[in-house]
Amino acid sequence: MAKTKTKRAKSKKHHSAAEPMLEFGNHWNYAPAPESTPVPLKKRYSLYIGGKFLPAGSGKVFRSINPATGKKLTEVAAGESGDVDLAVRAARKALAGPWGKMPAAERGKYLYRIARMVQERSRELAILETMDGGKPIKESRDVDLPLVAAHFFYHAGWADKLEYAFPGKKPKAVGVCGQVIPWNFPLMMAAWKLAPALACGNTVVLKPAETTSVTALHLAEIIADSGLPDGVVNIVTGKGSAGAAIVAHPGVDKVAFTGSTKVGKKIAAATASTGKRLTLELGGKAANILFDDAPLDQAIEGIINGIYFNQGHVCCAGSRLLVQESVYDKVMRKLSDRIMTLRVGDPLDKNTDIGAINSKEQLKRINELMDSGLAEGAQLHQSKCKLPSEGYWCRPSFFTGVTASHRIAQEEIFGPVLSVMTFRTPEEAIERANNTCYGLSAGVWTDKGSKIHKMGAALKAGVIWANTYNKFDPASPFGGYKESGFGREGGLQGLASYVDIQ
Ligand code: NAP
Ligand code: MG
Repeated sequence: MAKTKTKRAKSKKHHSAAEPMLEFGNHWNYAPAPESTPVPLKKRYSLYIGGKFLPAGSGKVFRSINPATGKKLTEVAAGESGDVDLAVRAARKALAGPWGKMPAAERGKYLYRIARMVQERSRELAILETMDGGKPIKESRDVDLPLVAAHFFYHAGWADKLEYAFPGKKPKAVGVCGQVIPWNFPLMMAAWKLAPALACGNTVVLKPAETTSVTALHLAEIIADSGLPDGVVNIVTGKGSAGAAIVAHPGVDKVAFTGSTKVGKKIAAATASTGKRLTLELGGKAANILFDDAPLDQAIEGIINGIYFNQGHVCCAGSRLLVQESVYDKVMRKLSDRIMTLRVGDPLDKNTDIGAINSKEQLKRINELMDSGLAEGAQLHQSKCKLPSEGYWCRPSFFTGVTASHRIAQEEIFGPVLSVMTFRTPEEAIERANNTCYGLSAGVWTDKGSKIHKMGAALKAGVIWANTYNKFDPASPFGGYKESGFGREGGLQGLASYVDIQ
């Protein structure tokens, strides 16, 4: 492995606060291949309430930024509590009206229609997702959009089969669902929330994250075009206070939240003893556990995918790597070589592996945690690739010399930064992996099936991947242990949150 040294960070404009340590760079040069399909980006986006696109009651808007340039992309209506009230009323009216009375098989048809319309417009949606959020086009095109459609298709199939999902019960809708989502998979999170709620006959008020509201409003157009009765889906864009207003509204029967543990705790407190149902999908600090008998090249690809995919803006990112001591040097060499070849830059370029960090604030948080890693004595290794001069960027990075007490081993970094530690025995790996307040996901890399079973039983994580990472399927439930939240999304378990079976 190349020689490393620790050095205090020197701040550089738009660069990670940390100084690159290894002689890495972009070795693979491709001609630019930017996605150039024109997209119908509007100058201003409205709320979607009761089947109508409306400005916020206050008339206020906020700017949505393209994180790859740092410049304004568009303006979005800044909904507040009055708008939330209007949306909840529209949702209650739809519940008491045609939607509540509609046969389940008819409900399913709307979901199928939405799924197909998402597929038809998937190129446009992928480009908008990339422009608004900074993720590489190859991810929004090949991961996010197919999963959005798959989620609607999967739940469409359940709409008229709920009695088989819950045998002996008569499942009914819970009512009006208030759903608040984050910025890392904007449209996919919207689909994860909307599809099961609608399949079970509920109505919805959804708030997207402030930095990534655009695609949810294009989905609102699809929903309007699908003929779904007015008020079944309402989208209120706005700041965190709009999310808090949804959570607090007495007309909301169920709250579903995906986001940070900090906000999740506030929501748990706000809904306590209100009788509202609550599911929380929160943060994570997953460990990828690499045994010496694993196929190492395959494992390196999985580890790279686990932490650098979507700039590490993934709640289940494999942000800790636990390597068995006997293969540590070999693995570090391979990891160093591989991050050198990752292409960072224009998210609309089809060759880009790592796009822009979602916002200036998020880049600041990542840099602050990287600085803490250096201050606590860990060694930083980074690609030396060139970064664009504008926008928000972070080089793919990893820390060695990390101990369990370091902040970079405990706190969610939500960026392309991996913390590497070692272990000798499976027991030590289990203890280290479980040593966080989170429990969302984990990865195990080994040639031995028996080891996978042993680790799977002992790891306290909602999702455990074996010899792969970051694989999602609408039929497979997703959710956390401990401070990663409670409740599941996807599969039968995900449906359970949206039905009343008493
Ligand atoms: P966040 O700050 O918690 O925000 C999530 C959403 O909540 C946003 O729409 C936000 O609005 C809104 N919000 C903020 N304050 C609120 C309040 N007091 N009441 C109600 N809503 C409020 O999280 P984030 O920074 O957007 O997302 C990153 C976090 O999400 C990470 O911790 C990540 O692990 C987690 N995440 C978890 C999963 C999972 O499935 N477990 C999936 C994806 C992400 P604004 O955007 O206007 O602030
Ligand atoms: Mg944006």
